[in-house]
Formats: sequence, structure tokens, C-alpha cells
Amino acid sequence: MTISEISGGMKKQKKHTILIIDDSDVNIAALMRILSPDYKILVAMSGNEGIELAKSTTPDLIILDIIMPDMDGFDTIVALKKAISTRYIPVIFVTALSRPEDETKGLLLGGSDYITKPFSPEVVKQRVKNQIRILEYIKKIEQLSRIDQLTGLPNRRSFHERLLSEWKLAIREKTVISLLVMDLDHFKKCNDEFGHLMGDTVLQKVAKIIDSITKRPTDFSARWGGEEFIVLLPKTDSDNAITIAELIRSNVENKLITFNDGKSTNITISIGVNTHMPTKNCSLNDYLHYADDALYLAKRNGRNNVTVHVPG
Ligand code: GH3
Ligand code: MG
Ligand code: MG
Repeated sequence: MTISEISGGMKKQKKHTILIIDDSDVNIAALMRILSPDYKILVAMSGNEGIELAKSTTPDLIILDIIMPDMDGFDTIVALKKAISTRYIPVIFVTALSRPEDETKGLLLGGSDYITKPFSPEVVKQRVKNQIRILEYIKKIEQLSRIDQLTGLPNRRSFHERLLSEWKLAIREKTVISLLVMDLDHFKKCNDEFGHLMGDTVLQKVAKIIDSITKRPTDFSARWGGEEFIVLLPKTDSDNAITIAELIRSNVENKLITFNDGKSTNITISIGVNTHMPTKNCSLNDYLHYADDALYLAKRNGRNNVTVHVPG
């Protein structure tokens, strides 16, 4: 993942997908007329078919009828809310059942909205739009919770999730996995000399360098916290990990960082490297600690260098 991919750019939005689950041709046709100009529509004519289609396609929204033979809309939503892959898809009931008890039941079972027939096309349109808007907010919040706002790199939490999944994959596939833990040298001095805002600029520039050097789709760089960065290199042996670490180190060292006021500075970075082929008995915490130990040694060795953890 690159910084530009994370920040999303201004790409044209793809059409959202709506799954209509209804046993009546007439209702389906009416909903299609209202929604197909703005959305991609999928149709299922029974609860069971709808659940299967929802699982295989994960639509953005489901419109669900209640009165259907075999499995009614209430049973259908219970099944949808139970399955992990469909649990978070909002469901709007569109039904002839207009008693408040039915509406209450639908909402209690997890329905996001409830529209009774006969419906006004404009009302359907607006209520669908509302649900899609909420969905977009949720996606945005989820994205923000994974990204470091200053540098645009994934944050620590996001890194932990990736580390865990790559660690498990490395165990299953019996492959090596490398970790680079990095810390800027004497960064406090940089802040003291140029001010905290300029310090922020330095962090942004260093993040860009790290991001541009870790290019493979499975490479994953993140801001670990403060002036520390971390890079995960799945299926990368020690020699290749050292090469990448050395590239980062030298690029940071050689980059003249210029500020808006025309002043400029150089900064250096110390990097600890740990490569391991994990098994079920290995500890992920130890793996992280050993990379940290190597970073500590890099600092002790005079900073601005790459130090590798040697298994003892
Ligand atoms: P060392 O070479 O031993 O790592 O020394 P150092 O000065 O880099 O380390 P130290 O831990 O003493 O100081 C880290 C500094 O990083 C102090 C802190 O204010 C600064 N820092 C942490 N996060 C940010 C940030 O988001 N922006 C800015 N500008 N500074 C930050
Ligand atoms: Mg530091
Ligand atoms: Mg530090």
C-alpha cells in the first residue's frame, strides 16, 4: 500500500450495489425503476437465495420484503445478521406489513429502516440515499482509524493487524519474514533547533522516503509512533532486508530537507533488522523485541547505521 493509495485521491466513485430480496415481480420491477439509474441492482426472489447472494457478493445495501413463502423477511434478516460476511450490510425493509408492531420487530432485528407499501418513489430514493451516506461515513471513519494523520502512513494499530496476519501466513507457508524498526537520530535536537512544525515536516519527508523504497505489494510500512517507523517485509530474507534497510538509511541521510522558510537540514536514521522463519511455537512479541534490541544496538554503535539481530 502506498501513501497515495491510502489517501484515496479524487477517483470517481464506483456505483454502489443494492440487493433486492422480494418474491414479487411487480415489486422488483417498481424498485428497479426507482433505483437502477443510480445503483447496480442484484435480485433474489427468496430469503435463501438472497442470503447466498449476499454472502457471495457482499452488496452495499439490502432491500428486504417481509411476506415471502418459505422463509419470511424476519427470518432472513436474522440469518443475515448472524453471518460475519453479511452482518454489517444495512437492510431496509420494504413491506405491506404496516402495523407498528411489525415495524418495531423489523428494527429490533437489526433493520436500518422500514418503508411500507404502497411507497412513494421519492421516499424510497431518499431513504436509500441516507443509508448509503451513513455507509460512506463508516468507511471513512474506519479508514481514518488506520492511518497516521501526519504522514499518511498506516498507524501502529493497522501495522499490528497486518503483522499478525503475515506472521500466521509465514507459519503456514514456512517462509521467512523480515522486520525493520527505525528511529530518527537526535530528533529532539531537530525539534529544538527548527521548531515542532518543522519537525513534523521532517517526519513527513522521511515517511515518503520509506514508502517509496518499500515497493512490493506485500511490503508494509507504518508510523510506529513519535519518530519511529516500522516496515514488514514478508518472504524477504536477511540479505534483502538489509539491502532495503541500507537504502532507506542512505536515502534519509542524503536527503536535504528544505522548509517553507528556506532553511534546510539533514537527518539520519538508525535501523534494527530481524529476520525469522516462524513456527507455531515462536513468539511474535520476541520477534518484535529482537528487532528493537537490534535498533538499540544501532544507536549504541553510533547511530545512522543498520544493525541485524543475531540469534543467540
Ligand atoms: P535518539 O537518537 O536517541 O533516538 O534521540 P532522539 O532525540 O531522536 O530521541 P528522543 O526519544 O529523546 O526524542 C524524540 C523526540 O521526537 C521528542 C519528541 O518531541 C519528538 N517527537 C515525537 N513525535 C513527534 C511528532 O509527531 N512531531 C514532532 N515534531 N516531534 C515529535
Ligand atoms: Mg530518535
Ligand atoms: Mg524514539
